[in-house]
Amino acid sequence: MSSLHADIERVLFSEEVILQGINRVAKALVEHYDGRDFTVVSILKGSCIFSADLIRRIPVPLELAFVSASSYGDRTTAGELEISFFPTGEIEGRNLLLVDDILDTGQTMSRLKTEFLERGAAEVSTCVFLDKPSRRAVDLDADFKVLEVDDLFVVGYGLDFAGRYRNLPYVGVLRPEIYQAAGVQAS
Ligand code: 5GP
Ligand code: MG
Repeated sequence: MSSLHADIERVLFSEEVILQGINRVAKALVEHYDGRDFTVVSILKGSCIFSADLIRRIPVPLELAFVSASSYGDRTTAGELEISFFPTGEIEGRNLLLVDDILDTGQTMSRLKTEFLERGAAEVSTCVFLDKPSRRAVDLDADFKVLEVDDLFVVGYGLDFAGRYRNLPYVGVLRPEIYQAAGVQAS
């Protein structure tokens, strides 16, 4: 039986480092909301694992909603962005916390932030598991972030390559031959 671990060239962030960072961000969020009610909007699929770990460390009342955004398909370079809104509950007048796996060009977050503000949200804040500032194409910084990465294509802890590797408990870089076998160039 083949193991996902064998496809990883190196681990960038261990599970322990990830959870320490999430504890820090969770505390900052509790301070930021300071008793105000808010909705965590988890951007699927990449942020499902981060969102689940994050909200369990925020011991105050909150609601949970989902949107789906995908721009990658089976490659490691961005393509068209597709967004689907699941029933998100009340938006008008709500404080929303948009949660994504990684802030890369910033296009996904920026589009969703605009969309929710247009739908009447009172406040839209952004929280990302990873920040890749070197690749930013729009003027947007995450209000809350766990860790920063260089310009590398990473997988694990929710982040995929061609739909796989989301279930790795750490963040790592794939062996080059995995990309080559899929006929793509790693960015
Ligand atoms: P943005 O709209 O900020 O360019 O792209 C954000 C999305 O691109 C992320 O939610 C993620 O799906 C994808 N992405 C960007 N960089 C990486 C990466 O290094 N690894 C993986 N697996 N996905 C990435
Ligand atoms: Mg994503």
